[in-house]
Amino acid sequence: MLHTPGTSAIGLVSLLLSALPASAFTKPAGPGPYACGDLTQSLGDEIVVTNPFCADYRQSVNTYFNTEQSKFKPSCIVYPTSAEDVSVAIKAIRASDSRFAIKAGGHNPNDFFSSVDKGVLIDLSSLNEKKYDPVTELATFGPGGTFGDIYEYLLPYNRTVVGARLAGVGTGLALSGGLSYLSSQYGMACDSFRELEVVTPTGEIVTASEHLNPDLFFALRGGGGNAYGVVTKYTVQSRPAGTFYAGVVVYLFQQNQKVLDAIGNFIQYNEDPKAAIIGTYMKLPTPDLELNLDEAITLFLVYDGPDAGDAFKNFTDIPHLMNTLGHLDYNGVVNMPFPGSAELSRGRNTFRVTVQPGTDEGIDTLATLYENWRDWSEENKGKYLITSLDIQPIPKSLTDASNAYLGGNAMQMPDGPWYWVNYLLTASELLWDDAYQEVQESFKELVNAVPAGEGLPLFINDAKLDQNPLVTYGGYEKLKEVKAKYDADGFFSSYTGGWEFP
Ligand SMILES: Cc1cc2nc3c(=O)[nH]c(=O)nc-3n(C[C@H](O)[C@H](O)[C@H](O)COP(=O)(O)OP(=O)(O)OC[C@H]3O[C@@H](n4cnc5c(N)ncnc54)[C@H](O)[C@@H]3O)c2cc1C
Repeated sequence: MLHTPGTSAIGLVSLLLSALPASAFTKPAGPGPYACGDLTQSLGDEIVVTNPFCADYRQSVNTYFNTEQSKFKPSCIVYPTSAEDVSVAIKAIRASDSRFAIKAGGHNPNDFFSSVDKGVLIDLSSLNEKKYDPVTELATFGPGGTFGDIYEYLLPYNRTVVGARLAGVGTGLALSGGLSYLSSQYGMACDSFRELEVVTPTGEIVTASEHLNPDLFFALRGGGGNAYGVVTKYTVQSRPAGTFYAGVVVYLFQQNQKVLDAIGNFIQYNEDPKAAIIGTYMKLPTPDLELNLDEAITLFLVYDGPDAGDAFKNFTDIPHLMNTLGHLDYNGVVNMPFPGSAELSRGRNTFRVTVQPGTDEGIDTLATLYENWRDWSEENKGKYLITSLDIQPIPKSLTDASNAYLGGNAMQMPDGPWYWVNYLLTASELLWDDAYQEVQESFKELVNAVPAGEGLPLFINDAKLDQNPLVTYGGYEKLKEVKAKYDADGFFSSYTGGWEFP
């Protein structure tokens, strides 16, 4: 990879600054710069970038979904091209006591999960080789790039993998479970893993599979990234990808009760695993003007097959503003509502999550969650750019498919139906530190106001660090054991961010 300065806005200044030697930016003291100096010597300056004005450096730090992460400045960024490079990096970081982070798609909004200040950022983007074997129907890919890249690569074979519902999200999604439009048929993204190449926290390169290091394989099937090692290659069972009947239906909030009822009904009673939905209630900072200009409900409806029958009739019967349902290939599906939507939603983003059962009581709770969130949104106008409530059904067909492979993943998913609700807050850019903390605190209170369903897992892909989601996992005790075995001296626990193991 060539590390050249960008040609846009501050291109000229960057060009001049990028011509300076690396030593101009690397202070001689401190564990981060020390590790970077060491790494530049062993891996070379094609792989290790210390100059913050290089286009690649800027691309790495400016592409976080939570733009607060872009404030952190790594001492250098390593772009490994092999598992061996990752191993060298881990050993050098270890030897220097430097902090570090592993970045795939950069969508986890929590501080220091894939970002680091004054330490080493391992950006996996160059590890992006892809292969497909039509005989075994296994797809192999590196952790770099996005799920959209992988889907595009596989589409000519009429195959895909279970991954993100939006093309722009990175592969770290799968290490934390990964909920897809195909999950009701095949389980979570991690349930399709067949073999992983992993660089362990000691820098050893190992294989994790059903037969090799099965304990590590278990933990990586949904137990979270950056805890047990760095995955440098995924081998995954691919799935057929033909014609989908899919689209978005947009409603005014006046329809909120009817839409909530239809979603509740779908959570409880839909038994067709080819039908998948996600329901998004969204509030914007625009004035209402009695015209509902500040809010909308968007349903994403996806049917794996050209004919959805009556699967979505309850939704399309409700008066709506827009309906784009039609025939799409999988690329079309993961680019709804429009290509690049994952990138456009960058901002001061926070995720929180709750989970509720699919019982009558649990479905009634949906209305309470909605009302609380809407009241909060009204009271906090001016403090956010967007806030949304995403309702994600988990049917029994999903939990059956998940538990059918090797006894289930790290969540040990209890039988469906139940549902996750993801709360998004994109805080206003105008909030200063105290006001920003205040709105975060009140958003936390909003989510905590209704206790999560007992015995159900809080999805780590949608969670905030303080929610301590891993403890809600059926496989938590086993995850703790794997963590203690592979990260025995607590190197990853102490030197990079990530979920805690209390
Ligand atoms: C717009 C948007 C859409 C989303 N859609 C979905 C969805 O459809 N389904 C779903 O389940 N979730 C979804 N999510 C949540 C998403 O799965 C998480 O944000 C996830 O962490 C993103 O992975 P990433 O690779 O992009 O992010 P990163 O922040 O780069 O990685 C996430 C975590 O995994 C670690 N990690 C990444 N790769 C590796 C590796 N190879 N080895 C070890 N550790 C690694 C990182 O260190 C970090 O802690 C969405 C999020 C956003 C912002």
